Amino acid sequence: MRDRLPETIDTAPLKTSGREYRGSLSVLGMARLAEILRDTDVPDLQISLYAGRDAGGVTCLQGQIEGSLHLTCQRCLERMAFPVKIDVRLALVHSAAEAERLAEAYEPLLVENERLVLRDVIEDELLLVVPSFPQHDATEHCSLPTYREADISVVEEEKPNPFAALASLKRN
Ligand SMILES: [Zn+2]
Repeated sequence: MRDRLPETIDTAPLKTSGREYRGSLSVLGMARLAEILRDTDVPDLQISLYAGRDAGGVTCLQGQIEGSLHLTCQRCLERMAFPVKIDVRLALVHSAAEAERLAEAYEPLLVENERLVLRDVIEDELLLVVPSFPQHDATEHCSLPTYREADISVVEEEKPNPFAALASLKRN
């Protein structure tokens, strides 16, 4: 059975029955993420998740988050698209002791009051993958601010041309 994305997931029934969710989610309303986004002018994130027990009996939330975020390149200060494809592998735990017993394949997700706010969970996952110093990569256009371009051209003009010096030597 596959449901649309709910706002919250009741975790109590997951011990006995798993559920699949698929849907899209806007980055609008993710206040912590908004602080590092350049703008929210991106298509909705595509989410597919399974919530339930795995073969080993661990209650988990796993699946994928796909989409794109708009960040500010810290080199040229222009907008850069940051593609996101996150494999979610979270184990639902109720205490730190339970988290410590987890297999390494899972990250612990603390559940309070048997309830998960899905938007918060997704936002946490996004915050983990956003670089602290985003930069266009080498294959992308990274345009330096115009004042820096002007500085560079002045420096280049003032450089003596070594070939001109050589040519004058030859003339003597
Ligand atoms: Zn750049």
